[in-house]
Amino acid sequence: MPELSGKCLCGNIEYSADTEIKLMANCHCSDCRAATGAAYSTLVFIDKDALQVTGTPGVFHHKADSGADMEKHFCPDCGSQLFGKNSNRPNMMSIRVGGLDQTSLVKPAVNVYLSSKIESTPVDPELKGFEKMPG
Ligand SMILES: [Zn+2]
Ligand SMILES: [Zn+2]
Repeated sequence: MPELSGKCLCGNIEYSADTEIKLMANCHCSDCRAATGAAYSTLVFIDKDALQVTGTPGVFHHKADSGADMEKHFCPDCGSQLFGKNSNRPNMMSIRVGGLDQTSLVKPAVNVYLSSKIESTPVDPELKGFEKMPG
C-alpha cells in the first residue's frame, strides 16, 4: 500500500505516491475556488517525481496573480480536479485531497490566500494564516 493514493470520481484516473508530504495547506484563492467549485481547496504538496498516475489527465494552463504559470490536472471524463503545478515550484506537485484515500493524513498546517476567502468560511485559529501565498 503506497503512502498516498487516490482517484477521480469516475475512477478512470488513479494515482499513488510513496513519498513524504512536504506541506499541506488550505488555499482560499479565487482560482482554487473556481477550479474546484468548493469554498476552498486543501492541497498536499509532494515531490513531483514521486507521483505515479494511471490514465491521462487533461491539463489546463493559466497565470496566477504572482505571474507564475499554473497547471490544473483533471479527469477529462468526470471533471475531477486532481493535481496542480506552479512554475515557481517546478519540483513540486500538489494533490487536491478530495480524491485521496488516506483521509486520516489530511491535517492542513496553514491557510493561505485568506485575503480572498469567502467570508462565511470558518478558519481554525490554531493554524498559521497568510493573506497571500508565503515565499
Ligand atoms: Zn474521472
Ligand atoms: Zn489556490
